[in-house]
Amino acid sequence: MKAVASEELIQKLKKIKLLIFDVDGVLTDGRIIYNDEGQETKVFDVRDGHGIKLLMRAGIESAIITARESKVVEHRAANLGIELVFQGAKNKVAALDEILQKRPVRLDEIAYMGDDIIDLPVLKRVGLALTVADAVDEVRDRVDFVTSRPGGRGAAREVAELLLKTQGKWDEILQNYLS
Ligand SMILES: [Mg+2]
Repeated sequence: MKAVASEELIQKLKKIKLLIFDVDGVLTDGRIIYNDEGQETKVFDVRDGHGIKLLMRAGIESAIITARESKVVEHRAANLGIELVFQGAKNKVAALDEILQKRPVRLDEIAYMGDDIIDLPVLKRVGLALTVADAVDEVRDRVDFVTSRPGGRGAAREVAELLLKTQGKWDEILQNYLS
């Protein structure tokens, strides 16, 4: 992990308005299950999903950019209310550019979470670069923050809570469940 002063990290976290996720290895553990018909199955984490919904309610939009293409991702995105979904994105920077055109956000207001070298071009450009505990070393060495949880097992939830806590929105959310 790049040595970023915690104050610098906090300042970056405070600016974020849009969080982009890679899918395989970030929202999943990276494994893909094929059935006899060749259809793909992936496993998602319910708590990650809830984190994404909490972000949305707090005004932080989530997006997906994945190089692969599958119906599973379409269903998961629809289920979570994610509108910005880019599948089959071999050039992830092009998808990032499209997001910048579709939403009134600046690069320093965007966070991206990816786990493999294909994600490096986008990670280099955005204001906040994030990865999962089990990402490849080349990515872990070049991001602002590495989660303690692995991909598909709470990493997205960890980032969601970190953003909400840093932006002072977490206590209000929690109160909703305690009252
Ligand atoms: Mg990946």
